Amino acid sequence: MTGPPSSRRILSAELLSIGSELTVGETSDTNAAELARSLTDAGVTVGRITALPDRLEVVADAFATALGRVDLVVSTGGLGPTPDDLTREAIAKVWGETPVVDPDLEQWLRDLWARRDIPFPEANLKQAWRIPSGEPLPNPNGTAPGWFVAGADGRIAIALPGPPREMRPMWADHALPRLRTRGLGADVAVRTYRLMGIGESQVAEILGESMLRNTNPEVATYARAEAVDVRISALSHSDPGGIRTAEALVEDAAAMVRARLSAYIWAEGDQTWAGAIGARFAQRGWRLGLVEIGTGGQVMHLFGDVDWIALAEARPDDAAIEGEPESTLADIAHAIRQRAGAEVGLAVRARERGGDTAVSVAVVTDDSEHRETRRAFLGGSHGRTRAALTAAGVLFTVLRDAAD
Ligand code: AMP
Ligand code: MG
Repeated sequence: MTGPPSSRRILSAELLSIGSELTVGETSDTNAAELARSLTDAGVTVGRITALPDRLEVVADAFATALGRVDLVVSTGGLGPTPDDLTREAIAKVWGETPVVDPDLEQWLRDLWARRDIPFPEANLKQAWRIPSGEPLPNPNGTAPGWFVAGADGRIAIALPGPPREMRPMWADHALPRLRTRGLGADVAVRTYRLMGIGESQVAEILGESMLRNTNPEVATYARAEAVDVRISALSHSDPGGIRTAEALVEDAAAMVRARLSAYIWAEGDQTWAGAIGARFAQRGWRLGLVEIGTGGQVMHLFGDVDWIALAEARPDDAAIEGEPESTLADIAHAIRQRAGAEVGLAVRARERGGDTAVSVAVVTDDSEHRETRRAFLGGSHGRTRAALTAAGVLFTVLRDAAD
């Protein structure tokens, strides 16, 4: 069993991504990114992410040195049944303990094979191993249980399986709850604003260097495909002047960000375009009829399978409407709105123009008509993807500004 519960709070972590498929570049490491995000959200500082080949000394050395620096080391990979899966061996070596077969795990494994009427491969027996300082983490999606190992000083090593669909639920359902009972993370607060119609460098200029250099609260910008994100985070801290909570520190910075950038903000947190627009439709009980032309269906792709789209059509670039006045697009929007029996009609047309993409958007309701043409950066599939984002931005703005 794990040793006596230690009072060590888990504030720092390192991640080890184990498997030669990573160090030869055959697989890209998505596990560490997901874990880093989850730990960061929980107020744990991730100091290092390391990818390692399937070599016992390398993996054992990485665990030992990482555990010398931080409170928690989480690995993924190397829990398979084959001789090159060495994570258990490495942890046992670092703890100086000898693995034994856990009878319950062995029974569970043998039952998995018996259910399929296949003889149990003895190589898999090592997936039933445990060490005295560790406890197994259940894996309902595979044959490799994880390990949760605690040191006498309260430091923790967690080994998770490599396949993301096994790793994810084990982390969320079994590893995180155990960590929480020990005290996980500093008191942190985070707020993210998602911006449209503005570039990252312009955002940085508006926020100013002093705000972006501040470390608590920390304000950072991230250019993503669908938005420029402004992420504000803070740790609670106390000084002779008193305690400032993380939430209060974040709100101070957030008020400044809103004051300077509110016209560009379309969402908070990790909300998507489909989510942000869907919320506007839900508010009014409205639905959308959509026609997109020359966009390769990118608008539908961006919105996905949502209940607020009553009818959607993607048409190839239609030469017949080339050169016709912009009002034809509004006519198309009115027509789809009526055919869909929806409150809002949206028509989008993308055309390549000098290496970029001209995006025309018409949004119509019963008593309003909004038309707009913008230029999206680049042509081809990049331009079509940006055309869809442009259309989403225009639709969002019209819905936001529509009188209630
Ligand atoms: P393993 O637990 O080492 O047997 O890993 C099995 C499989 O999980 C690998 O073949 C990869 O497809 C996947 N995998 C392992 N590590 C990672 C990782 N860090 N990120 C994403 N997938 C991974
Ligand atoms: Mg492996």
